[in-house]
Amino acid sequence: MAFQADPNRYATMSYSPCGQSGITLPRISLGLWHNFGTEDNPATAEAILLKAFDKGVTCFDLANNYGPPPGSAESTLGRVLHDQLGAWRDELIITTKAGHRMWEGPYGDGSSRKNLTASLDQSLKRLRLEYVDIFYSHRYDGVTPLEETLQTLVDVVKAGKALYVGLSKYPPEMAEKAYAYLAERDTPCLIQQDRYSLLSRGVEKGVLETAHRNGVGFTAFSPLAQGLLTNRYLEGVPADSRAARNQFLKVEQLTPALLSALRQLNDIARQRGESLAQMALSWVLHDKRVTSVIIGASSVNQLLDNLGALNAAPFDQSTLEQLDAIVDTTTKNA
Ligand code: NDP
Repeated sequence: MAFQADPNRYATMSYSPCGQSGITLPRISLGLWHNFGTEDNPATAEAILLKAFDKGVTCFDLANNYGPPPGSAESTLGRVLHDQLGAWRDELIITTKAGHRMWEGPYGDGSSRKNLTASLDQSLKRLRLEYVDIFYSHRYDGVTPLEETLQTLVDVVKAGKALYVGLSKYPPEMAEKAYAYLAERDTPCLIQQDRYSLLSRGVEKGVLETAHRNGVGFTAFSPLAQGLLTNRYLEGVPADSRAARNQFLKVEQLTPALLSALRQLNDIARQRGESLAQMALSWVLHDKRVTSVIIGASSVNQLLDNLGALNAAPFDQSTLEQLDAIVDTTTKNA
C-alpha cells in the first residue's frame, strides 16, 4: 500500500539550529550504520524509516560503507525513497560520508580527492538522488593534506552534489583550520560529527568547544554507546544484539565493572520514570552545544523508546554529579 505520511508528524519533535546556519536539525536523527543492509530484514528497515519520518525525524545519517555489505544501507534508503518517501524529499536531510575503506586498491580508502569524489558519485547512484544535503569527510586520515580534502568538499557543493559539508572525527586543531579554510571559500562547515555518550567523553576535551566557538553545529554518534546504555545487556547478551555479533561491540567489553555501572544508571533512570536509553539520550542533549543525537535502532519499538527522551525531565546538578561519579569509576575515558 502506498505510504501516507502522518499529518501530525511535526507535532512532537523539536528542532535545533545547526550552528550559525539557516538549517535546523531534529534533536534525534536516525543513523543507518547497522540494521539497514541487505543482510538485515528489509521490512523492519523500511518500518523503522517510515515510523521515524512520521515522528518528525527529518535527518537520516549514512555513509558509503554502511551495510552489510558496504553500500547496501544507501541502497535500502534509495529504495524506500523511490517507493515510499520520494514525495517528501524536501522534508528530509540526507547525509553521506566518505573516507573509510570502501573498495579495493589504493583509491578506495582515505580522504583524497580521488576517493571522496568517486565515492559521492557512487553514493548518489545507490541513494537514487541528485544531491545529498550534507556530505561529510568521514575522518581526518593523517596523510592527505587537509587542503586537498577540504577543496574537494568545496567543489562537490559547487558541482551541486551536496548542499552543505561536515566533518567527522577531526581533532580540534585540524577542525579549527578546516573551519577557516571552508569559510574563506564560501562553503562554511555546517556540522561536526563525533562519538559522544555518558561513557565516551573525548569530545569534551576540545571538539565540542571548537565547533561551538566557530558557529558549527555538533551531532553525537553512538549516543547509546552502541546499545550499552540501554536495557539490552542488563540480563545477559541477547542472541540478536550487536554484542552477540561481536564485531563493532565486543562481548568482552561487558566487564563486571561496566555492568555494575549500567545497573546503577538504570536505577537512576527508573527513579526518573525513564528508560536507561531515554536518560542517556537526554543527558547528551542537555549540553546546549549539541544540535542532535544520531541514534541507531533495530526495531520500531527501540526507535519509539528513544523518541521518549524528548519528554525527559531536566537534570539537576546533583543528578549530573551522581552520573559522573558512576561512570568515573568505570569507563569515563573510553
Ligand atoms: P547507538 O549508540 O544509538 O546504538 C544503537 C544500538 O543500540 C541499536 O542498534 C540497538 O542495538 C541498541 N538500541 C537502540 N535503542 C535501544 C533501546 N531503546 N533499547 C534497547 N536497545 C536499543 O548508535 P549507533 O552506534 O548505532 O550509531 C548511530 C549512528 O551514528 C550510526 O548509524 C551512524 O549514522 C552514526 N555513526 C557515525 C560514525 C562516524 O564515524 N561518523 C561512527 C558510528 C556511528 P541492537 O542492534 O543490539 O538491538
